[in-house]
Amino acid sequence: MRKYLLPATGNDYKANLHCHTNVSDGRQSPEEMKADYMAQGYSIIAFTDHDILIPHPELAEENFLPLNSFEVEINQPDVEEKSARKTCHICMIALEPDNITMPFWHREKYLFGNAVKYRDQVKFDESKPDYERRYTAEGISEIMRMGRDAGFFVTYNHPRWSQENYAQYSGYVGMNAMEICNFACCYEGYDDHNGAVYDDLLRGGQRIFCTANDDNHKYEDRFGGFTVIRADKLEYRTITRALEEGNFYASEGPTIGELWYEDGQLHVTCSDAREITLCKGTRRNKPIRGENGAPVNEATFPVVPEDVYVRVTVTDFAGNKAYTNAYFVDELMREDN
Ligand SMILES: [Zn+2]
Ligand SMILES: [Zn+2]
Repeated sequence: MRKYLLPATGNDYKANLHCHTNVSDGRQSPEEMKADYMAQGYSIIAFTDHDILIPHPELAEENFLPLNSFEVEINQPDVEEKSARKTCHICMIALEPDNITMPFWHREKYLFGNAVKYRDQVKFDESKPDYERRYTAEGISEIMRMGRDAGFFVTYNHPRWSQENYAQYSGYVGMNAMEICNFACCYEGYDDHNGAVYDDLLRGGQRIFCTANDDNHKYEDRFGGFTVIRADKLEYRTITRALEEGNFYASEGPTIGELWYEDGQLHVTCSDAREITLCKGTRRNKPIRGENGAPVNEATFPVVPEDVYVRVTVTDFAGNKAYTNAYFVDELMREDN
């Protein structure tokens, strides 16, 4: 039976799941950002201002959905030079529209930029003590777990900009997804194309998704990384359920149409591509290219248990990529029976 890895039906909603407005250290107001992104064909923005959950339900309309969210950062202590400190940034998106309670909170610490002005508006559990962040694998996994337990979709962000490497991120457990591309970090000169980090985490046994985001703070750092969510309607819980179920792909430009598995074959269709590659959990990758440099728009790849997992990358003629989530072969084949 054909198993659709992206739903066969539904609409594709373009989303920016990571951004900063003037509620923290961004230049644009939420209203301005909404208008500019809608003009570029976006339907969804997760407003992930630093360390603070300020919802924007007033921005919702028929063709636009604001998601309630924030980005938490956990900094390495005891390193004097700030630019040399490792740091871990995590976005959290509330799955339910009425969940606007910060899952961990400190009454005095951690806010910076304009966020300080919004401290009194934050909803938190007053019965809980102030939460102290710890830059250790345990401390970061605890924050991811607390976010998940409190009903948030948890994404690990921009490892390159953060100066984190395998020794750090391999110990982080509990994320739903990681950023395979962070456009603002790339714009600022950091190579936050993170296919290799995604493979590291997948090979470590974490069954997680990948997103591409702008993480925009200003004007030049926009419209370079987006996530396409396939769902029946632009309704809060429908969209966050699609996130939970992995019904999306990440992109810097190319689009993906069909993606399905059937009888040991994975099939994908896409916009004009220079190359379609099936990336796998072992040294078995397979690229497909058009003859004499012609564009390709579809590919069918054989899948075997030794592949462990498979994921597709599509590269266009400008070098921009689209990335599917990873699909573990044991689950693909289990559905076959
Ligand atoms: Zn960040
Ligand atoms: Zn950010």
